[in-house]
Amino acid sequence: MRPIAIAGLVNGVFGDPALYIDFKFEKRALLFDLGDIGVLAPRKLLRLTDIFVTHAHMDHFAGFDRLLRVCLGRGMVLRLYGPPGFIAQVEHKLGAYTWNKVDRYPGDFTLLAHEVAPDWRLQAARFRSRARFAREPQEGRDCPGGVLLEERAFRVRAVFLDHGIPCLALAFEEKTHVNVWKNRLAEMGLRVGPWLAEVRRAVAEELPDGTRIRARWRDGEGEHEQPVALGELKAHALELVRGQRLCYVTDIVYHEDNAARVARFAADADLLVIEAVFLATEADHAARKMHLTAAQAGLLSRAACARVVVPFHFSPRYMGREDELRAELEHARGAGGP
Ligand SMILES: [Zn+2]
Ligand SMILES: [Zn+2]
Repeated sequence: MRPIAIAGLVNGVFGDPALYIDFKFEKRALLFDLGDIGVLAPRKLLRLTDIFVTHAHMDHFAGFDRLLRVCLGRGMVLRLYGPPGFIAQVEHKLGAYTWNKVDRYPGDFTLLAHEVAPDWRLQAARFRSRARFAREPQEGRDCPGGVLLEERAFRVRAVFLDHGIPCLALAFEEKTHVNVWKNRLAEMGLRVGPWLAEVRRAVAEELPDGTRIRARWRDGEGEHEQPVALGELKAHALELVRGQRLCYVTDIVYHEDNAARVARFAADADLLVIEAVFLATEADHAARKMHLTAAQAGLLSRAACARVVVPFHFSPRYMGREDELRAELEHARGAGGP
């Protein structure tokens, strides 16, 4: 596996939640949660294209002002996604300032805010600096399977969890990379051409090996067309590289329904970033606060068979005792039982 992006917690294990997902081959990044982002340099903030907010508790959304300040005056579009009520929350944030001069700024900084409902209907609204950030309703759409963002190389998927309020868990899923061996294609009597886009699509959609592909190309002798089975191409001329799956689960209460949803959502994750706020000795307090203990996070990681688990969102009361939280999670993950 050669991941196309690398994820890192912006504020370590005790600070506000914010996971920065940085693309290796382009100047682009995504952010899961928008807590305090004071430590991120402006150039890193300007790389952001899409920001996903699990819920609007302050520790997950307080970074909005800094982001806005850095982006203001630039002709860029930033997409934000959040749970029910999120568009109004963005609107209220913007409504807290006076914008009498902002329409004269050089760039028309634009925010596209999206909020998703539990039936996966997505509503959207635009806020442009040229329009002094007045709300402009946009056409909504459906997000089957909880897919909020779908691109050629990856998708971002969400699931609703219970934190006393609806809270989104998020997954960054890289699609299978398809490398084509030109010389081996030539050995099969084929040439590269736009038809390979169809091959990539067939692989992405996991079509059966018997699927017939029409290989078409043009050279000095004119047009050529030759049918070929997808399985034959896979066997001889393609290298399929599985993409990474990264899951982010934070601010949830431990109960059966949440546990089942996390196990399904994070199944086989290459990396699971999961909250582990309290020690099991304070499980009652954790339940009241609608958070997980480290042991519960361990059980969920175990049920999901996640390969690498990164706990975070530790309560500041454990400052200097983070090893205990990690050990408790690992114990529950390995041995089972809280
Ligand atoms: Zn939180
Ligand atoms: Zn919260």
